[in-house]
Parts: sequence; C-alpha cells; structure tokens
Amino acid sequence: MNILIIGGAGFIGCHLCEGLLREHAVVCLDNLSTGSRENIKQLLSNSRFYFIREDITSDLRAIKARLSNAEIQRGFDWVLNLASPASPAAYAKMPVETMLTGSAGTYNALELARAYNAGFLFTSTSEVYGDPEINPQHEGYFGNVNPIGARSVYDEAKRFSEALIMAYHRKFRLKTRIVRLFNTFGSRMASDDGRVVPTFITQALANKPITVFGSGKQTRSLCYVSDTVEGICAAITAEDKDEINYPINVGSEEELSIVELAKKIIKLSSSSSRIEFKDLPEDDPKVRRPDITRARKLLGWEPKVNVDEGLVKTIEWFRSKCSQ
Ligand code: UDP
Repeated sequence: MNILIIGGAGFIGCHLCEGLLREHAVVCLDNLSTGSRENIKQLLSNSRFYFIREDITSDLRAIKARLSNAEIQRGFDWVLNLASPASPAAYAKMPVETMLTGSAGTYNALELARAYNAGFLFTSTSEVYGDPEINPQHEGYFGNVNPIGARSVYDEAKRFSEALIMAYHRKFRLKTRIVRLFNTFGSRMASDDGRVVPTFITQALANKPITVFGSGKQTRSLCYVSDTVEGICAAITAEDKDEINYPINVGSEEELSIVELAKKIIKLSSSSSRIEFKDLPEDDPKVRRPDITRARKLLGWEPKVNVDEGLVKTIEWFRSKCSQ
C-alpha cells in the first residue's frame, strides 16, 4: 500500500513510519514543529520513504502540489493524521497552532483522503475524556472537559476533529478510523517535552530530584510505543465493518499513580534521586485508564509489553543518548 503519514516525524509517527515501511511505501509530511529530522534520519535512505517538510494547515492546493511533485503518482491507500503538538507543555506553548492543526489541519487531511479515495485514520487522545468521572473510560463516555481551561486547546481541537471526521464518514461514506491513544512512552521521546516519562528518566539519570506534581496520587496507564504502533496498524488492516469507523481506545490497562511511577524509575535506573513535590497544573486529570474491549474485539489488539519492560528499554535508550 501507499501510505501518507502526516506528523510522521514526531515521537509516535516516526515509529509508525518505521513499522509500516517493512511492507508499504510511506510519505511522511511534517512541519517539524515538535517532530524532528533526527527521528526519521535512519529512514531517509529507504527508497520507499519520502519526506516532505510542510504544514498540514497550509493552503490545500499548495499541499497537493507538494505531494504531486514528490513523484507520488500512484496516490494513497491511507492517510494517517498524527499531526499535533501532544505534550501539555508543547500545546501550552503553541495554543493557536494546536487549535489550527486540530481544525484546519484535520479538514485538509480529510480532503486529501477524499481526493485520493483513501481511508483516513486519526490519532485522537484520551484527553477527549478530560478529567473523567468514570474509570476505566469506554468510548461511549462523553467526557468531562473544561472548554476554556489550560488543556482546552488540545482537548477541544481533538474533539472537533473527531466530530469533523464523523461528518465526513456520514456525508461522504469516507472510511474512517479514530484511535484514542492513551499515554504512550518509549524511545525518541524528546527529553525536554515535559511529559512525565522522559522528564522522570532524565532527572533520574542525572540523580536530580524527581518533580512529582500535586500529591502524585493521580494515575496514568502507560503503553509502550511498539504496542501503540501495533494498535494503529491493526486499525488499518482489520476487517472493514461499520463499527470500526467509530472511536477505539488504544492504551494500556496497567494503571499506576505518578508517585509509583517515580519510584519505579528511580529503582529501574539505580538512581539516587529523591522525590520533590511541586504544584499540580490546572485541570490535570485525576485518573486515566482505557477500557479496551472494542480494540480487543474489532482489532484483535491488546498490549504485550508491560510497564516495567517498557521502562527498562526506555531508560536504556535515554542512557545511550546521554553518553553520545
Ligand atoms: N507530571 C509530574 N511531573 C512532571 C511531569 C508530569 O508529576 O515533571 C504528572 C502530570 O501532572 C500528570 C502526569 O504526570 O499528572 C502525566 O503528565 P504528562 O505531561 O506526561 O501527560 P498527561 O497525561 O497529563 O497528558
């Protein structure tokens, strides 16, 4: 298949490009605002890989021209849209860009899918559930989102995108996949993006204090990136039936508190760091765990790598990066 991955130079995107290249041709389009060339440098020599630096919120005709200039005559079977700043620190720094990417950008990506007569996959987020009142969260839960809070630029852009995608599905019968990704971690996360795993590992490896926000009793369920990528791939290869066009949670069921995570990282990296408590950011969700019944049923998918195994691999990757 020919696959267009928008946001393919980001943390999850680059792993997805790598995985899909084993069997398919991949064009990666990314503006490198939070992604990087470093993430995809090992793919550039692959003749089935093509990189275009472009912003998905640019003029649609200009994007189409870039794609047709890129010697991509055969069109695409799938358009996968992962584009967006995704860490709370990144979307706080780029609030307007985040909203535009999740609105005008999603519109452009959908129009590309329509023009190529391709299927369309969108990586949505557990953030559509906001600070959830139920745990675990299933796809039928409408969420508890503050529409004007610090995280709203991300949450509402993703919610708008989901609504727009469903409109395209209903109006144009576009083949759609919405995977709601829960927290994902692994190699090639940016050490300075503020997310909990790279932050704690970087602090632990330097034996500096581990900054736990709030009481640290808030929970997250961390999925290792190879599992997340398999979940995304399963969404485009699984049997095409009506139900699969609607949102599907992809994440780990292994829920742990942030303090537990800090202790695990200290132990697994043999660090002498201590824990330092800091203020909790606004609207920080208290719990987060996916109900993955739909992923099991429709995608035949569930995570394989447990948190400890994933953390060991991720710590090793950060350690080797530090020593370079
Ligand atoms: N967190 C923390 N210390 C940090 C970074 C994050 O305690 O240095 C907490 C944060 O408050 C949240 C959780 O870790 O409760 C996960 O944060 P992250 O930014 O990774 O993503 P989120 O799940 O909130 O989108």
